[in-house]
Amino acid sequence: PFEVLVIGGGPAGAAAAIYAARKGIRTGVAAERFGGQVLDTMDIENFISVSRTEGPKLATALEQHVRDYDVEIMNLQKAAKLIPAKAQGGYHEVVLENGASLKGRTLILSTGARWRQMGVPGEDEYRNKGVAYCPHCDGPLFKGKRVAVIGGGNSGVEAAIDLAGIVAHVTLIEFDSQLRADAVLQRKLASLPNVKIITSALTTKVEGNGEKVTGLSYKDRNHGTEHDVELEGIFVQIGLVPNTEWLKDAIALSPRGEIEIDARGETSQPGIFAAGDCTTVPYKQIVIAMGAGSTAALSAFDYLIRLPAT
Ligand code: FAD
Repeated sequence: PFEVLVIGGGPAGAAAAIYAARKGIRTGVAAERFGGQVLDTMDIENFISVSRTEGPKLATALEQHVRDYDVEIMNLQKAAKLIPAKAQGGYHEVVLENGASLKGRTLILSTGARWRQMGVPGEDEYRNKGVAYCPHCDGPLFKGKRVAVIGGGNSGVEAAIDLAGIVAHVTLIEFDSQLRADAVLQRKLASLPNVKIITSALTTKVEGNGEKVTGLSYKDRNHGTEHDVELEGIFVQIGLVPNTEWLKDAIALSPRGEIEIDARGETSQPGIFAAGDCTTVPYKQIVIAMGAGSTAALSAFDYLIRLPAT
């Protein structure tokens, strides 16, 4: 059994493992895919102190840094169920999909999230070649170009306002007959000269030239007509889904399925901490996930040293 068992090997989990191991306590990390979302990223230009790097490079560096310490890495292991300890100071159990189970006196849950995809032809093919999911990350790559934002909820409208300050033109496409974002955001969006809003529109295809995105097609849901828009980038903003389905009955989740944590990263169960994109933390970014993972590990250590000696 571990003193600190980390579930998830993205930036949050890697940071948690390093901070825990540096306290000299027995630490393990189980991850479905070590590296996490970073593996699906190309250019990273906001990893502070590194002007530019690439996702797979950062993922390798994360793993190497964890391996500098005495941490047991269990890659390709998917957690399926959490059984919290019966009593304070007892072991929490994580049952893996393969039936095996791992135990930790403290747990750090850092299973991240995934962007909901449109599921239309061209989306996968042109991912990172014009199809993007994170305006904070990739917005500046489209400076002076034309982009679309798919989705008129808060995140879509926020993305459109953000991008309008960087790119030449933004087309916002919403499936419903009206935007669903807060009124104050909608007013701000409507005031911008380089934004066009199209409602009742179903995106049907991402167009490209084999190398890069060149446009998209949508269907007007009122008239059934097909339309094409020429552009260089498409930001899909139809939801970020936390990887917390396996935790539903064990700890408190927000209505969106995010793990509820306090300022120290503690969940509703004593001794179980969480960090990164799977939590209620307001912004989902690499440096933020790393900070949160470090916080969770220090809190886990704090919890451990306060347990009565056995
Ligand atoms: P993740 O990176 O999602 O890692 C989660 C880990 O948990 C993975 O190891 C996963 O395999 C594992 N896991 C999931 N479920 C289970 C389970 N049931 N059992 C065991 N393990 C599990 N951020 C930036 O700051 N800058 C950027 O430029 C940037 N670009 C991005 C581009 C793309 C295309 C994407 C998708 C994201 C980008 N982000 C960027 C966001 C950034 O990648 C995330 O905020 C960050 O990776 C979150 O870290 P995390 O550790 O919380 O989660």
